[in-house]
Amino acid sequence: MDSNAQALITSTLPKNYINHESYPGPSTLQTRCIAILAHLFHAPVSNFIGTSTVGSSEAILLAALALKKRWIARQKALDRDCSKPNLVLSSAAQVCWKKAARYFDIELRLVDCTPERRVIDPHHAIKLVDRDTIGICAILGTTYTGEYEDVAAINDLLGQRGMDVPIHVDAASGGFVAPFLDPGLRWDFRLDKVISINVSGHKYGLVYAGIGWVIWRGEEFLPDGEFFFSSAFMA
Ligand SMILES: *Cc1c(COP(=O)(O)O)cnc(C)c1O
Repeated sequence: MDSNAQALITSTLPKNYINHESYPGPSTLQTRCIAILAHLFHAPVSNFIGTSTVGSSEAILLAALALKKRWIARQKALDRDCSKPNLVLSSAAQVCWKKAARYFDIELRLVDCTPERRVIDPHHAIKLVDRDTIGICAILGTTYTGEYEDVAAINDLLGQRGMDVPIHVDAASGGFVAPFLDPGLRWDFRLDKVISINVSGHKYGLVYAGIGWVIWRGEEFLPDGEFFFSSAFMA
């Protein structure tokens, strides 16, 4: 980092920036960043919501929790058991998904990679879904090879089969690559089953470590009143 960045971060280190009343600047910046990202990822204009996080790791914890709570609400409404939530994703998933699963008691249903296929197999993923599936995670740029998983194929298979299962896209690295290098690729909120996306800000240099985001397509995909995003956070 250059000396201006060094001077800036050093001068602001003692500030308790999470106190938005004393330091409104960061939350204004955050709101603008969320609006920019939601637009970049083609969220419907009126209703998106999100927050900055400590990297994609925290973003994924929040997204997994939101999926679980939404599923619990739905199961309760249908008078069904809520004790065995599962999440479908490929074995190439980053380790923070294992953390999320362990912290929140979610079973991970892994679609194993093979030497020839280092990403998810959409058909296999759909086969692992049952009524206890809280969502499918697709990775836009796996940590190991950078390959994109086929989010559109998963979305379209769910649609064809009339399955109401949400997709979360782990776009930790690809979220800042695909929109610029491959703007026609269908992977984001243009796909109707994609309800949330995480992205890391600190994987590209020119920034200090510790910034990520999670964006939801709409407020209705967050459990009612259980997340502490004040209205200042809503873009
Ligand atoms: C790096 C990475 C994460 C974790 O992101 P951090 O910003 O380092 O917390 C999650 N998912 C994928 C696919 C990653 O590559």
